[in-house]
Amino acid sequence: MSNDAKNPIAQMEKIVSLCKRRGFIYQSSEIYGGCGGVWDYGPLGAELKRNLRTAWWNTMTREREDVLGLDASILMNPAIWKASGHVDTFADLMRECSLTNKRVRADHVDPQDGVVMKYSGAKAPNGWRWDRAISALLKNGEHIESFRKRIRALIAQNAGESAGKPEEIELLGEEKIDAVNGSVDFHPETGGMLGEARPFNLMLKTYLGPTATEDDVTYLRPETAQAIFAQFKNVFDSSRVKVPFGIGQIGKAFRNEVTPKNFTFRSREFEQMELEFFIKPDEAVEIISGEVAKWHEGADLSEPKPNWGWELWHRYWVDQRTKFYQGIGLGDVLEYYWQTPADLAHYARACVDILCEFPFGTEELEGIAARGEFDLSAHQTASTKSQEIFDEELKTAAAKLTDEQKEALIQKRLAAEAAKTKGEPMPEAAVRAWFERLFKGSYVPHVIEPSAGLDRMALAVIAKAFSETEKVDEKGKKEVITVLRLHPRVAPIKVGVFPLLKNKPELVAKAREVYALLKKHMNCFYDETASIGRRYARQDEVGTPFGVTIDFETCGEKGPDLLDTVTLRHRDSGEQERVKISELLGKLLPLVS
Ligand code: ATP
Repeated sequence: MSNDAKNPIAQMEKIVSLCKRRGFIYQSSEIYGGCGGVWDYGPLGAELKRNLRTAWWNTMTREREDVLGLDASILMNPAIWKASGHVDTFADLMRECSLTNKRVRADHVDPQDGVVMKYSGAKAPNGWRWDRAISALLKNGEHIESFRKRIRALIAQNAGESAGKPEEIELLGEEKIDAVNGSVDFHPETGGMLGEARPFNLMLKTYLGPTATEDDVTYLRPETAQAIFAQFKNVFDSSRVKVPFGIGQIGKAFRNEVTPKNFTFRSREFEQMELEFFIKPDEAVEIISGEVAKWHEGADLSEPKPNWGWELWHRYWVDQRTKFYQGIGLGDVLEYYWQTPADLAHYARACVDILCEFPFGTEELEGIAARGEFDLSAHQTASTKSQEIFDEELKTAAAKLTDEQKEALIQKRLAAEAAKTKGEPMPEAAVRAWFERLFKGSYVPHVIEPSAGLDRMALAVIAKAFSETEKVDEKGKKEVITVLRLHPRVAPIKVGVFPLLKNKPELVAKAREVYALLKKHMNCFYDETASIGRRYARQDEVGTPFGVTIDFETCGEKGPDLLDTVTLRHRDSGEQERVKISELLGKLLPLVS
């Protein structure tokens, strides 16, 4: 563990610095001063992300019979975003600093203590004037002179060249107003008074087509999920699948976040990995299976069962996703936040956020929501294209029900509608019409949505793996050593291959042979410069779990027993073992894939 584990800012600075120094993550457009909220992945970051992406894709689609993949476009018909509700409601509340016009998300302002200072305006010797009242927070512990200097600098920055030099600006009519405790009315960086909270739509607008008029407006997708809903019918019709089944997709998403922060955690361009798992409505399960299984503590979630309704499917996916995170080394830093009925959107039945411990706090890594039929129904209504599927098994089972049994199902649903605390209850006529379709075997599938962020996942594994230890070298000098204890499955480089000495052609030739053998199957790094200890340390710093050293024994100097064997070093335990070259691949492959 790092010495700075308890100092989140220092810990994050070290992680950001390591990421840049060793080619994991760079600031986008750095040579031009950067570009707010966007990041580039360097050679090792690209490998790490690729490993995480592959792990998700394989676990969620390839290794399952009931999930298919999709790779949809980023730009779509804007009608999709109207139907999904994003045009009207995908907004955060933001507040603007009265001093600098800098924006901040209303729920991202931490409480602050200090004294409210007021000025009637400001002027400069060149005749420039600012006739506007200014209120700002003199933070507890901040000296009044440095506060004034800061305010002058902010005013100068805002006014541009016309105000002249910041030190020449005169602040007018200074007054001390009130002492405040725990106030959320001042910008966290500038200290300027914040204006009213206003909704700010997070979608990034663009124009599709050459005329760039309002008719050409569309959006960079703010989530990958909507394309899955929009293509649901095509996938269903072209793939010979039956509900329950899922469609998974990985791809870029864009949000004009008001306050991008915490490195890549909240970016404006990021990658999502989303699954929409389509299930039968509970009423269909009840008709087919005679009952809908209820979840209870300790329920067996290992294999899906035909009598599962939305609740067990939701629990199942929380369990599956937890196992996934355990498989990439995050098992012991997860927490769960089950949204309360007050948190939930009116259409959602349940939503759990899988949270992860980051240096800056415990934050969301993935959300898993049971969204009912909301999304497909919204597209059915807006597009007027049916999103219903036909279920032969349901039709056959429904045909065996008596009229009384059918009426009992209808009455149960009507009672549930009447008991709704959010959203409008479905009118009786609509409920009866819905059951009429259901008894014929037709329904719009419901959905469970595990939605994860790839960039957050990459940051989570780096932050979890980051560790520092103090070492004393041969000369007694203390040195801080950084080791990234990345899980072998996600590590960008799996094996470092080292000839003991670079000036011995037989060692180099053998090492090259081993490197050629391994690199066909995994990402390896060949290194012959510096001492072997230094080479191990370089690989430890980027999370390489294994090192293979080729020495004189490999070439048979200590007799035939050790001929064609190498030293395999394990990063985390420091253990070194002698392994035959012919057995190396068989030993390493299961550990890294
Ligand atoms: P938050 O509350 O943190 O803004 P959210 O609940 O809006 O996130 P979702 O819309 O559920 O997020 O998106 C699913 C996942 O996509 C999140 O769990 C997260 O991993 C990822 N994600 C969302 N927004 C961002 C972002 N701005 N930068 C990086 N990843 C993001």
